[in-house]
Formats: sequence, structure tokens, C-alpha cells
Amino acid sequence: MIALPSLPALHASHAGVWLHDGESTRAVSRGEAVARAAETPVLLLNAPLTGQRLGYGDLSGLDLLELWAFLFPARFLVPTPKGLAKAVGLPPPEREQDVPALLSEATRLLLEGIAADAPWPEREGAWTAAQSLHRLRWSWAPLVASAIARPEQGERWLFSRLPEWEEEAPRPSPRPVALSPGEIGERLSGLTGANAESRYGQRDYALAVGAAFAPREHRDRPNMVLAEAGTGIGKTLGYLAPASLWAEKSGGTVWISTYTKALQRQLDAETLRLPGGGTGHGRRVVVRKGRENYLCLLNLEDALQGGFSGRAAILAQLVARWASYSKDGDMVGGDLPGWLPTLFRRNGSTALTDRRGECIYAGCPHYRKCFIEHGVRASAHADIVIANHALVMINAARGRESGNIPTRMIFDEGHHIFDAADSTFALALTGQEAIELRRWVIGPEGNSRGRRRGLAARLADVTSYDGEGARAIEQAREAATALPSDDWLKRVVGGEPFGPLERLLSAARSHVFARAEDGKADVDAGYGLETELAEPDGDLVEAAMEAAQALDALLRPLNHLGKRLEAILAEGPDWMDGPARARIEGAIASLGWRADLVSGWLAMLARIGGPNDPDFVDWLAVDRYEGREYDIGLHRHWLDPTRPFAQTVLKPAHGVVLTSATLRGGDGHWPTAEARSGAPHVGAVPLRFEAASPFDYASQAEVLIVTDIKRGDIGALAAAYARLIEAAQGGTLGLFTAIRRLRAVHARIADRLARASLPLYAQHVDPIDTGTLVDIFRDDMRASLLGTDALRDGVDVPGHSLRLLVMEGVPWSKPTVLHAARKLAAQGQGGGNAYDDALIRARLAQAFGRLIRRADDRGSFVILSAAMPSRLLSAFPANVPIRRMTLDEAVISVSERLGFATPLVHQTGESGMKQI
Ligand code: SF4
Repeated sequence: MIALPSLPALHASHAGVWLHDGESTRAVSRGEAVARAAETPVLLLNAPLTGQRLGYGDLSGLDLLELWAFLFPARFLVPTPKGLAKAVGLPPPEREQDVPALLSEATRLLLEGIAADAPWPEREGAWTAAQSLHRLRWSWAPLVASAIARPEQGERWLFSRLPEWEEEAPRPSPRPVALSPGEIGERLSGLTGANAESRYGQRDYALAVGAAFAPREHRDRPNMVLAEAGTGIGKTLGYLAPASLWAEKSGGTVWISTYTKALQRQLDAETLRLPGGGTGHGRRVVVRKGRENYLCLLNLEDALQGGFSGRAAILAQLVARWASYSKDGDMVGGDLPGWLPTLFRRNGSTALTDRRGECIYAGCPHYRKCFIEHGVRASAHADIVIANHALVMINAARGRESGNIPTRMIFDEGHHIFDAADSTFALALTGQEAIELRRWVIGPEGNSRGRRRGLAARLADVTSYDGEGARAIEQAREAATALPSDDWLKRVVGGEPFGPLERLLSAARSHVFARAEDGKADVDAGYGLETELAEPDGDLVEAAMEAAQALDALLRPLNHLGKRLEAILAEGPDWMDGPARARIEGAIASLGWRADLVSGWLAMLARIGGPNDPDFVDWLAVDRYEGREYDIGLHRHWLDPTRPFAQTVLKPAHGVVLTSATLRGGDGHWPTAEARSGAPHVGAVPLRFEAASPFDYASQAEVLIVTDIKRGDIGALAAAYARLIEAAQGGTLGLFTAIRRLRAVHARIADRLARASLPLYAQHVDPIDTGTLVDIFRDDMRASLLGTDALRDGVDVPGHSLRLLVMEGVPWSKPTVLHAARKLAAQGQGGGNAYDDALIRARLAQAFGRLIRRADDRGSFVILSAAMPSRLLSAFPANVPIRRMTLDEAVISVSERLGFATPLVHQTGESGMKQI
């Protein structure tokens, strides 16, 4: 047993604050806890969260989560006392006051586990990292550095430890093959296990999906299957059976695309069942995300060598530890703990990824070890690529990875294709977008740190070889100075814009403030403000013309440079080896899409004072968060975004499946589903398949519509949440359409629930990322989680952890310019209100779908709205009981359904209540 210096341990929750001081634990005031933490380092779990509970945001100490991240860099941990106890093999604390002692004991065990003779798989690199962290004054460094024995041989540097990818010959085109029903069925049995109970509908589903893999009959028209399979059919194995079989027989790759990272993670686990399954370097299954998710080794090297300071430098060291043990370098939803960046208040973590498209490809010293390049190469030779809708669409739209275009695709969560296409094919000329372009062309300016990675630096060998190319780069550089620069927002808000683009943003801002409707909640809500781009005033028209001239002056050299690079590729000069060629090809692709971006901006500016383009919806917006402005600009969305989706993704494809439990949006209408799939734009006639859920909703679930909560009465709303959560004894997911109401409800009920040992977590309140909040919720049967409406897509919590879902009201669509335009277009076709209703039904169906995930799940779905129209109730499965009732009755119904003793309650005031 190692001797630890006696360190106090602190735990703060909504129920109280406790300090363990050597022998005993006692309750202390917040003030005493803060004072104690200031005078001596205290052991704690999650400093930002503890600080928030104490009302002291700057709290620091010996955070066990940081210790965990150092010791076990890529290992999963639920960051709660219970999660820590489980991870170190201690009994979970029964009461909150037991937590500080647990922290002390866990610290002792963790430090014992790294002693010289202890087996510790992550030992390599730890001693060197501990020395660096000591220099950075990391609070754990003295304890850790003295516990780790100095290795006999010097440790290899991270960058020499990582594996390199190998260049492989391009893969031949897939062979045309036909899959027979017999072999699909056999593969399915192999995946589900020979003795597995045959799931109702699953085999039919697999056969239907198999039709997408038949050889294509017409050019530019894929085989399409729209498959709606209710929860419980076993969709995943149902489509993996034909997909894996086709990949094997044809030698091709099937891309499986999801909307959420949660499903991507789940699919990654499911594919372990495939013959030779598993992911990672050189395996048959590869997970792919957008490049901004992955660690950029060049940025990390920069950070480790002095680019970062203070806490950000400590984070960089912990990320470097993780990089040696990570499966694929995915920093967002991969094996980097989602809670790690939040411990550092996100200071530095985004700068470690390649967010600005500054990659220098083959010019990078880490190119052959780069996580992103590993993923790109592995996916070209994989059987199955697990990607997401945004990546598939962006790659197609930007002509990336031209040798690796997906031709067989399964879009799971297919009901989100419309939304994913809507954001991917949208265009924004905002301050933030424009300054990104400036940095991409010019590189860091002024006092900014970091390597120069402007166009000139990225193409240094081209400029020394080709005078014309060098001139084009110089002209682009000169023209880019017209784009907004650092502190643009301050200047624009202060009425002192500099340059034509900042003047445009300033005119746009004035226009928005003048036109946004007074009296609408949006104006003073502190969030986004917007107005349609119609009847622009003279200032805006003039600013748009001036900005268009500046952008045109930038576009010309960009286009010219692209042509010069193509000519150099064709000439093939002596110095152009394989890596240089790859880098120039990369530069041509990124120049191409930036030139497209600027062309799109010009088209949007031509619209100001010019004719309307009926294919697009244009508006001006000031983006705000809690009253603080953070971006300003012009926006353009396709009226029907499935048009560009069909042209770029569907047309080149041979087989496409769209599948979901709610593909028809809860209203059972196939033509709507077809229209939202993009099929009509390429003349495809999709095969339709539907299988209802096998679950017995009549006995497993109920829908309760609570009729006595007055709209706008936040006290009554909060009391209703508290009573329902108590009735279910936790296990509640609460969905809100407004962040303000979510916070107000949380503030009123969190303490009281905590005193009843019912922890309440909330998005936009707790300093914890959403993925981790869901992990905590899943892990603790008594926990509840409040989130915005969008949370419903990322939550997959089968079992008893989620047994009650409460919506604060009917999830009406926000009255945005875009929504109004689409509704108007639908009205033109005779269905304006039907358009709105279909959207709401879809949201209700998706939210309800979170509740019952397995045959033995039971749960209640509560809507706190007297105004719930009956016509929307068809969103729920036909046999689920739906009742309108008072809150008192709903509380009884929930507790009876879930088997808890009925709480006898009556309200005592606005938000208070008393148990009797
Ligand atoms: S190749 Fe690009 S993304 Fe990869 S490490 Fe180098 S600069 Fe970063």
C-alpha cells in the first residue's frame, strides 16, 4: 500500500456539500468548501461541475477525472462517483456523504496501480508525459511522477510510435452480383446466432433491403428501397446481412450512414458480429466522420512545442497520451472521453483538430501516420464504412476522395435525409465564414501564433516553380484583405466596419434590427433574429454591390490558380514526386470548393436588389446566444434540399436504402416519404417496405396528455416535472423547445429532487457534453435528464433507465423565414397545415420511439399541454392507450405503471408541493 499525503476530499451536489478530512466526513457550507479548496489541494471529481454546485466557477484541485485521463487514456469512464467506483472495483456509494471517502480510496487504488511492479497496459510513455506535466505544474504531477518508476530505456516519442498507412493499388470496380433470398437468410441467421429467436419481420426486411444490391438497370438512376421498420424488428442486422454479403461477393464497399453519433457508435459495436468484423486500422469495417472530428498530429505537435500555454498545454499532454492508445484518433464521440475537453472549458481542444481546412497533406511530416489519412485509405478497401449523412453529402458535393465515391449506401435514420441535406447544401455569407476564408488564403496574421499555413505556404514549391501560379496566389492574398479580419464583430456592432465585407455585415445587421417584428418573442428572447431578404433598403443594396466587387476580385485569381495547378499536374515536372502530386491534387479540390463557395456568395448578393430565385429561400440573420451576438450574415437554403442531394449523391449511386422506424414521419403517407428521399429528382421508383413494431404497446406504454398546466406558468410546469419525476423515481427524459424554460424548470426543482436522491442533469446547465450526459443518465437508474427537443435523436437508452418521457408541450415548428417559405410552397400544392402537422407528428413519433426499445421495456409518455390537437395523435402506434387527464391523475398513472407506490401529493404553491 502506498503512503498518500493526507488530502481532503470534497463532494458537492444539489443536495449539499461534504468534506472528508482524514478520518471522518462532515457536511460543510459552500463558503467553507471554497475556502478550503483555495488553501489546500482537495480531491474532487469533475472540478467545473463541483465549482458550479458551489457557485464558484474557478474551483481547482486534484480532479480524479484528469488522473483517469492520464492513467487510462482511451478507456471509457462514466464520470460520476458511481462510475468511478465501478471502474476501480469499489462498492458504489450509498449516500452522497459517502462520496468524499470514496474519492480518497479510489485515489489510493489508482496510484497503487501504477507502481513499478503493477501490470499497467498504458505504462509506455507515462513517465515522459509525467515529467512534461510536472514542468507545466499539473496538480497531479508530483504524486504521479513519484509513483511511476523511470523506464530503463528512453521512451519512444508519440510520433514515432504511431503506425503508418501503406499505399495500396486502387481497388477494381465491384463485380455485378445477385444475392439470392436463401443466402441472405443464411447470412442473417449467422449474424443473429443459430439459436436466436427468429424476429418477426426481420427476414422480410433483409430481403427487401437486398433488392438495392441488384445490378443497376439504368444509368443515373439507382435501385432505391425505402424501408420503414418499427422499433424491435432488428433493422441493423437486417441490413448488415445483405450489405456484408454483397461486399464479400462483389469486392465493393457499402457505406452505412447515420444521422447521429450515438447510432454510429452503436453500429460500430454491432459490426463486431460480422465475419472478420471489428474496426480500426486494416480491418474490414471502418468508422468515418468529418475531418474536424479527428486529432491533427501537426496541430498537436505545435501545441506540445509551446503553441499552447497554461491549462491548454496540460490538455495537449493528456491528448498526446490518448493519441498513443486511441483506436482511430476520433476526438468527438470516439474513445477520447467526451468529458475531458469540458474539464478544460474546451480551451484548446478544437484547435487540436483540423477545423479550418489547413491540412497540408503530403507536405505534413505526420502525413503517413495521420489519423484522417488512415481512415480515408482504410475506407477505400473496407467492406463496410460507417459514416454519417453530413460526411457522405459533403464528400459528394466537394468531389473529395474521387476514387472512393460511395455507390452502395444505406441511410439509417433515413427520416433525417431532408434535414441533413438542408444544412449541407445551405450557403452562409457570414462574418465567421468570411474570416475563415481569409485565414485559409492569407494564413495567421498579426500576433496569431502557429505555423503559416496560408495558400502561399501550402504551395511553396509551386510558387518557386511557376511564376504565373505565384502571381495568382499573391493576387488572391491581396483580394482576401477585403474580407473581415480579427475583431470584425466588435467593429460591426460598434458601427465602425472596415472594408467592403464588414460594411455589408453592418448593413445586414441594421436591416435585421429594423425589420424583425417588434412584439414577437424572438426580438427580446436573446437568441437568433432574422428577416426575409425582400425589399432591401438602399444601404444594403449599395453594400452588396461593393462586397460583390471585392469577392469577384478574389474569385478570379482562385480560379486561375486552380487552372495553373492542373497544368502543372499535366506537365509533371521533375520535382513532383508522389506526395507532391497528392498535395497538388488536394489543393485543386479545396480551391475548387472554395471557388464554388465564393460563386455561391456572389449569386446570393446578386439577389439583393435583383430578381428572386424561386429555388432558394434567402434571409438575413443576427445570431445571438443569451443576448450576445456571435455572427451576422446572409443565408440561403434550397426550398427543396433533396434536389442537390439527388444530383450529387443519388445520381452516381447504384443502390440506395433509406430506412428508419419513422420514415413516413408518423403519418403513414408514402408519397411524403418518397418526396423527402429525393427519388423523384432522378426518376427512381423506390421499392417500399414496411413492418410494424412487434412490441405490445397496449400493455408496454401509455400516452398521457395533461390538461391542467396553464401555458406560460413556469412554476406549474416545474412542479409538474418534479411530481412526475418523483412518481417514476427518476428515469425521466424531459424535452423542451426553449432553453430558457429548461433552465427555469431545472433551477426550481434540482435541489429538491437531489434531496430525495433523484439526481437531475440538464443540457445547457451542467458543464458536461451531451454524450456524457446521456452516458450518466443510462448508468444511473435514479437519474433524470432535461434537454432540448433535439436531444431526442441522440438518446438510445434501452431498459429501465428511461421509463418516462415528458414533453413540455406540443413541439410546434419555430416560425422561421425558412419554415414559412416551405409552408407557403406546400400551401401552393394545397397542404400548408398538413405540412406543419406532418412535421409535428414526425417529432412526436421520434420522441415516442425513445421510450420502448426492447420487448420488456415499460414506460409512460406525457405531454404537458391541454392544447394537444387530436389530429396529431395518429403519430403514436395505433394500439397505445392515449388519455387526457389532470396532473394528479397522470402522477398516479405513471407510478402505478412503473410499479412504484403511488405518491400521495398535493400542491402547496406555485412550484412547491408536499408529500403526505
Ligand atoms: S496530414 Fe493534415 S490533418 Fe493529418 S496531421 Fe498532417 S496537417 Fe494534420
